[in-house]
Amino acid sequence: MNRVAFIYDDILTRHVLSNDHVFVPARLRYTYELLEFLGAFGLLNSTIHPPRSALLEELLSFHTKEYVEVVRFLSENDRSIDGTKYNFSFDGDNPIYKGMFESALLTTGASIVAAEELMQGRADIAVNFSGGLHHAMPNKASGFCIFDDPVIAINSLVANGLRVAYIDVDCHHGDGVQLAFDNTDQVITISLHESGEFLFPGTGFTNEIGEGSGTGYSVNIPLHPYTDDDTYLWAFDNIVPPIIESYKPDVLVTQLGIDTHVGDPITHLRLTVQGFTAIVKRLSTLSPGRWLALGGGGYNISAVIRGWSRAFGIMLENEWPNEINNPIADRYDIHFFDDPVQDSMPENIREEIKKYAERSVAKIQELVFPIHGL
Ligand SMILES: [Zn+2]
Repeated sequence: MNRVAFIYDDILTRHVLSNDHVFVPARLRYTYELLEFLGAFGLLNSTIHPPRSALLEELLSFHTKEYVEVVRFLSENDRSIDGTKYNFSFDGDNPIYKGMFESALLTTGASIVAAEELMQGRADIAVNFSGGLHHAMPNKASGFCIFDDPVIAINSLVANGLRVAYIDVDCHHGDGVQLAFDNTDQVITISLHESGEFLFPGTGFTNEIGEGSGTGYSVNIPLHPYTDDDTYLWAFDNIVPPIIESYKPDVLVTQLGIDTHVGDPITHLRLTVQGFTAIVKRLSTLSPGRWLALGGGGYNISAVIRGWSRAFGIMLENEWPNEINNPIADRYDIHFFDDPVQDSMPENIREEIKKYAERSVAKIQELVFPIHGL
């Protein structure tokens, strides 16, 4: 049985970016509550660990000292600093709020604690759903992300000599993580996302394959708006397993954003919770025995709670019944894990979706596969 470590403390869920911001950290608490009612934390192979704050030297493995200081000052309400230079504002994607430094330190530290559980051999899978903040850049905030916990956690794995495969299934391109490891073959990054032609951050095209010794170790699978479970899984199956089997990582790191969901208010893919579940099952078979699972985007709260609870069940090798029959069902109005069957899109759109995915897959097979002997 997999030994699964869940990194969690209610404190991770308490901050509010701004009153009308779509990124609602309380979604982590709702997920935790559902898992608790399902008995997830009473199982012998599951443990809960509190996070710790990331250390300055850990942050500096990716971020500039200047940026870290700026976040600290803004968090203390120091108005003498111009936050806009670092992509902060009072009402945009990255609002300034009191205490944001401390909460970003904890979220980042939670991913480092998860990596440590794996490195010290105490867990086979370690989960931090508060992490996965893949857009943060060395010297600026981006896309609701202050510190790039995936990069910082991966840096701790790499410092221990481990080869890492990072797979990002968030609806947005994992641009910060790609940038961090663009020049190395010690980490391979694979991102499946709604194409940058249509969605923030506007990057993640098939010709972004890395540089220098990292050439062939950045992989991007852009998809057309309205892509559904079938086409998504078809693209995944054609690219991800062969590359991972050839690369042979020591650790798998995944960013499990669920903003690919058909009900997500800020994106345009059309995956269901069943589709997300199928992705997580595939990821579990690709794990070499050490798997760091991070959260990510997801702005339809019901999809987040159901998708992540299901994912955790798969990790525990304990799948929950489809019907949710406990107080959470009424509290959050979620009665089944599965989504209803979706109406299919008009034929011309379905063809466009399929063609787009086929072009992405063919381009990767042309540019990246030969580098991996495929
Ligand atoms: Zn996202």
